[in-house]
Amino acid sequence: MSGLDQRPGHGLADDDRGRELAARLTAVRSRVEEATDAAGRSDTPTLIVVTKFHPAEDVVRLAALGVQDVGENRDQEARAKAAETDRLAGEPAPDGSAPAVRWHFIGQLQSNKAKYVVRYASAVHSVDRESLVDALSAAMAREQVRRGEAGLRERDPLDCLVQVDLDPRPEQDRPAGIGARGGVAPDEVKTLAGRISAADGLRLGGVMAVAPLGLDPVPAFARLAELSAALTSTYPEATWISAGMSQDLEQAIAAGATHLRVGTDVLGPRPPVG
Ligand SMILES: *Cc1c(COP(=O)(O)O)cnc(C)c1O
Repeated sequence: MSGLDQRPGHGLADDDRGRELAARLTAVRSRVEEATDAAGRSDTPTLIVVTKFHPAEDVVRLAALGVQDVGENRDQEARAKAAETDRLAGEPAPDGSAPAVRWHFIGQLQSNKAKYVVRYASAVHSVDRESLVDALSAAMAREQVRRGEAGLRERDPLDCLVQVDLDPRPEQDRPAGIGARGGVAPDEVKTLAGRISAADGLRLGGVMAVAPLGLDPVPAFARLAELSAALTSTYPEATWISAGMSQDLEQAIAAGATHLRVGTDVLGPRPPVG
């Protein structure tokens, strides 16, 4: 057997699940392409496939299908899955470079988990308070020391997005669901962005939002685009607009989203959140 055949991940993309993921991914990619054309955009948004609740084997299958970006919303699950993905995909290079996929952290994050997240995540989309900025920056400093001592090269700065709360309803009136809580008020975006921009080890990426559950996403995404335009007038590099999920990716693309976070329509239904 050749070395490649002995790699545990080899062949996963060719099984039934691999074929199912290929078909779903093709359908989502053509929706993205059509919406991008319809919006008259020449850039293609980055598709982040949200793999929460699905196993590392699926991440390996997706990587074989050309997916380079995956999203997770809980540290414990993401941490274990990133390690398992590396194991299945084969050992990384001795200098720690070239992971199989880039991991995007997209959920509410406790500051005491920052030290774990900086080990596997290339971006955190859900920065919602100054204390988390400080925790991520401190964790990055310690991570660079750790890598130096282990003989690994420095990691890239952590891309950080300001999560914005676009829901006009008071919290007690919101239905439960993804993004029901979390994010700063629109008038707090600039202050938090400034804190990220000034923090060592972090790179200000832009803004992120979840459309308010049960409301029309169009005005919400329009507001997000306005906030992004205001932000890039001060920080020209902060161009990311992370918006759009399975249900509303077309509306997000129309509003200028640069990063889509799509789970269900690529992977199929998740078990209900307990
Ligand atoms: C789960 C999740 C998604 C993906 O949602 P789908 O409806 O499954 O596409 C996107 N963004 C966040 C923040 C999530 O938690």
